[in-house]
Amino acid sequence: MRILVSGAGIAGLSAALDLCADGHDVTIVERANHLRVNGSPIDIRGDVAIGVAEKMGLLGEILDHRVDMSERIQFIDATGTVVAEPPFEVINDSPDDIEIPREDLTTLLYNHLGPSVELRFEQSIAELHDDGRGVDVRFASGARDRYDLVVGADGMHSAVRRFTFGPERQFLRHLGYYVALAALPDYSPNGRNNPMYNFPGHLTGIAAYNDKALAVFMFRSPWLDYDYHDLAAQKQILADAFAGHDQWRVPELVDAAIRDPELYFDSVSQIDMPAWHRGRIVLVGDAAHSSSNLSGRGTSLALTGTWFLAQALRDHPGDLERAWGQYERDQRPHVVRSQATAAPGGDRLVPATQDEIDTRNRSFAAARLD
Ligand SMILES: Cc1cc2nc3c(=O)[nH]c(=O)nc-3n(C[C@H](O)[C@H](O)[C@H](O)COP(=O)(O)OP(=O)(O)OC[C@H]3O[C@@H](n4cnc5c(N)ncnc54)[C@H](O)[C@@H]3O)c2cc1C
Repeated sequence: MRILVSGAGIAGLSAALDLCADGHDVTIVERANHLRVNGSPIDIRGDVAIGVAEKMGLLGEILDHRVDMSERIQFIDATGTVVAEPPFEVINDSPDDIEIPREDLTTLLYNHLGPSVELRFEQSIAELHDDGRGVDVRFASGARDRYDLVVGADGMHSAVRRFTFGPERQFLRHLGYYVALAALPDYSPNGRNNPMYNFPGHLTGIAAYNDKALAVFMFRSPWLDYDYHDLAAQKQILADAFAGHDQWRVPELVDAAIRDPELYFDSVSQIDMPAWHRGRIVLVGDAAHSSSNLSGRGTSLALTGTWFLAQALRDHPGDLERAWGQYERDQRPHVVRSQATAAPGGDRLVPATQDEIDTRNRSFAAARLD
């Protein structure tokens, strides 16, 4: 089949790899002009996701790039003094957990794309029309083409989902937080520790790994209406959320975010859809079922979902309805479980009041003594 994949994140690249291995002719379009490799280390969690990585022939390389962030987090107070260290099981809910820098996993998937996969940067879908026998696509460039299938792997704010299923808000469940990550190019790590500082409703800190460091932010907020392609608007929202706080290194970290041309900023939200397919169009990864960064399982779901999708198409050649049914049956239990793990994480990371911050810190100290 001629298959168009929208988005070159973890889901889009792994979809292309899996589908191309079955002999399909795959084209990826990515809206950015480069692979978006920024972000903090991400997790491949649980034996199913790790098993998929192995079947894809990537596990050895993934392990070569493994980092360990879990023992490094220390909560500090406004003076930088350590006040709590989360016990291992709080930040790592699975014994089978491989952490890998997002840039390494993205680059590794990209390097495995064979010459038969075409990846077009600065390109996106402007219009889709599924006539039952194929999908006519008009691209933002004005070019037109026709495909047997279109796979939406374009993230939580998926354009393919909007074109096919309607406005995002009917599927998006905002968990009440925003998250941002920015490069800290001049940071020299102090030992192996990643300090995290809370004030009510806010978290900011430093995540260092290998020779890199990131400024990390989370804050509580109701849903905000802004154009999520507008980087200046995102920076303003972040700056406003931390304005008036000059304790610890808050101003320095906010400055780094304002200066970063690749700032990652988004709502902490989940996508909940009754079905991930319509006709010849199907969604994978965050576009289908974002579980939010609080679950730590978005990447695992992207890997398993694209694997199950390719397998279903292989098992039911020429019968899309049965293939979609199998894809949903195989993937949905993992999504339900992952989305359920996200909610308590926010209260622990970003307590709403000083009392809750103190209670969290005391509970971590007690758990470490157990
Ligand atoms: C820059 C970035 C940094 C991230 N950092 C973290 C992190 O630190 N921790 C964490 O838990 N999760 C992070 N995530 C989310 C995490 O990558 C996903 O939850 C998970 O890997 C599943 O990925 P995905 O491919 O479904 O979606 P995404 O990772 O969101 O990838 C979607 C891709 O589609 C592209 N795209 C978007 N719209 C269009 C369009 N209209 N046409 C074509 N292409 C489009 C995007 O540029 C992106 O490359 C990050 C995502 C991004 C994009």
